Amino acid sequence: MASSETSPRAGVDYPRAWHELNAWFPDDEACLAYLERLRWGDGFVCRFCGTVGGDWWPLRRGLRRCAACRHETSVTAGTIFHGSRLPLNSWFAAVWYVVNQKQGVSALGLQSVLGFGSYQTAWAWLHKLRRAMVLPGREMLTGAVEVDESYIGGTRPGKHGRGADGKAIIVIAVEDRGKSAGRVRMARIPDVSADTLTDFVLDHVTRGAEVHTDAWPGYHHIGRHRFSHVVTHVGVSGDPAHVALPHVHRVASLLKRWLLGTHQGAVTHEQLDYYLDEFTFRFNRRRSRHRGLLFYRLLEGALAAQPAPYKTLISPRALPAGDSPANPG
Ligand SMILES: [Zn+2]
Repeated sequence: MASSETSPRAGVDYPRAWHELNAWFPDDEACLAYLERLRWGDGFVCRFCGTVGGDWWPLRRGLRRCAACRHETSVTAGTIFHGSRLPLNSWFAAVWYVVNQKQGVSALGLQSVLGFGSYQTAWAWLHKLRRAMVLPGREMLTGAVEVDESYIGGTRPGKHGRGADGKAIIVIAVEDRGKSAGRVRMARIPDVSADTLTDFVLDHVTRGAEVHTDAWPGYHHIGRHRFSHVVTHVGVSGDPAHVALPHVHRVASLLKRWLLGTHQGAVTHEQLDYYLDEFTFRFNRRRSRHRGLLFYRLLEGALAAQPAPYKTLISPRALPAGDSPANPG
């Protein structure tokens, strides 16, 4: 397990169903053993001296002493589980619930499913899990890729506007796989300048890919970076933008519908980044036959994500109405 060479197997590396989840993880011991296999299955890594694959002594389940520097390292240290007072199998149940709801979940939904007394806890857990949804070092998009911007939060028509009138600008890249879309990447951006848009493409698309955009000048430099740049002159062709760049426009409208539906549109710009990560995680795995594999991938991300203490998740300005711990109704 956790080996990059082989893909995880259903029923062996991850549970296939709710009853299996419960049978595998009756207590913290079992959860810690699973996390140890996930995090250190390819070799123990010491957080203190940085030794990779070095020797260690077991102290108790989930805790090891590095033979090189003698520091103790817990399997949950430096992860989103760090310092959690609730049992790990509640976390596992939360992850299972989150990956099994195709449209995503609200804090109220998670609170009632897990029987939490506190709405605040459910809200904080969901935000921590969103942070875990995008693994560092993930792969770049390849092949033909459509790129375009979209505006979130408002009704102002048109695009490429200077100043978004309080709206968030996001840029979306979608692999064009013919009739269907491949993987997506998206990010909130401060402006639609050439610097910003070119950086996004460089960060998310493999060199040599065919990048399709409209004729906005912000994309003019793409061809200088070993991409083959295909420009669609929307006005000239007479086709509206959603015909010229169909995949990216479909993804943008799915994203907007999802934000309005599951989250009632109550997402601030600051928190939008995490919702974009969640949308990306769900969209890119929408055809996964095994929801258990998403459970496995999300736990992998949770082990890689930095801990997010509650006070860092909220700032008074960042709290959206209807999705805040102070406003559980
Ligand atoms: Zn060490």
